Amino acid sequence: MRIVALAGGIGGARFLRGLKEAVAPGDEITVIGNTGDDIHLYGLKVCPDLDTVMYTLGGGIHEEQGWGRTDETWSIKAEMKEYGIGPEWFGLGDRDFATHLVRSQMLSAGYALSQVTEALCVRWQPGVRLLPMSDDRVETHVRITDEEGTRAVHFQEYWVRLHAAVDAEAIIPVGAQAAKPAPGVLEAIAAADVILFPPSNPVVSIGTILAVPGIREAVAAAKAPKVGLSPIIGGAPVRGMADKVLAAVGVAATADAVALHYGAELLDGWLVDTADAAVTAAVEAGGIRCRAVPLLMTDVAATAGMARAALELAEEVRAS
Ligand code: GDP
Ligand code: CA
Repeated sequence: MRIVALAGGIGGARFLRGLKEAVAPGDEITVIGNTGDDIHLYGLKVCPDLDTVMYTLGGGIHEEQGWGRTDETWSIKAEMKEYGIGPEWFGLGDRDFATHLVRSQMLSAGYALSQVTEALCVRWQPGVRLLPMSDDRVETHVRITDEEGTRAVHFQEYWVRLHAAVDAEAIIPVGAQAAKPAPGVLEAIAAADVILFPPSNPVVSIGTILAVPGIREAVAAAKAPKVGLSPIIGGAPVRGMADKVLAAVGVAATADAVALHYGAELLDGWLVDTADAAVTAAVEAGGIRCRAVPLLMTDVAATAGMARAALELAEEVRAS
């Protein structure tokens, strides 16, 4: 079976770890990763979501934090600070720096991001085929108004420095309209037996992937059953500030509103948490099959159970 999953960082990566446990030997997983969170720092290209997937599946992730390397040290950051060079709010540890150095070196030698990602994965062996959504530069910006006035800030500044404390007025995936899907992305979607939407951020992770012209259309046209898992439980994101960016696109932070935001064009099935069992009827009224199952990724076994439930719902769709 060929499984395609669209994924952001932490929520996506943790789900994929469970999915790997749930699939049968010989099944292939292709992950289309969000690159709208990418940021250039110190002349280096940093791809937080791709790296979170790669480190999580490759055994190098800082478990508690959910991003960055395990056993990290911070000498480079401290030295940069002595020179008065920031940003202080973005955490790049010494081990992590090596990844960004290799990536940036390969990019300046002329390799595409998809080729670089493949090369980095030779070390990490994530057990999935990891494709960036695009080789072209896309950067999500967020329009905010604060004491400095109305302006657009990089998504990382909004999320990491400002902790999404001010309202997001608009989410702008800068460069997305001119971006092309990376090699293999459309082919993987067309050839998929199942397409999964992990519990990733629907706006700034999955929404950004779908904003690359061709990807949304390919998912909508794919013959495979498409099943998603809600990142919202009981009216709030499990982790992070997804409610802020959902509000910016006029979507309520509820499990049913997120499903209807994707819509029946993109989704055949949707899993909500048992705490949200009451909303299944509203989702089904939108033409999307809906089941309530436990959706907390407390450990790999629980997450594998979620992945199995998603694959079962896909089978149910296929059989219908
Ligand atoms: P990011 O790039 O690191 O923000 O990661 P993603 O976009 O992949 O995922 C973020 C989303 O994961 C957030 O909206 C969370 O609500 C969701 N999430 C995190 N942990 C869990 C969990 O245990 N269960 C569910 N259902 N969603 C989760
Ligand atoms: Ca992200």
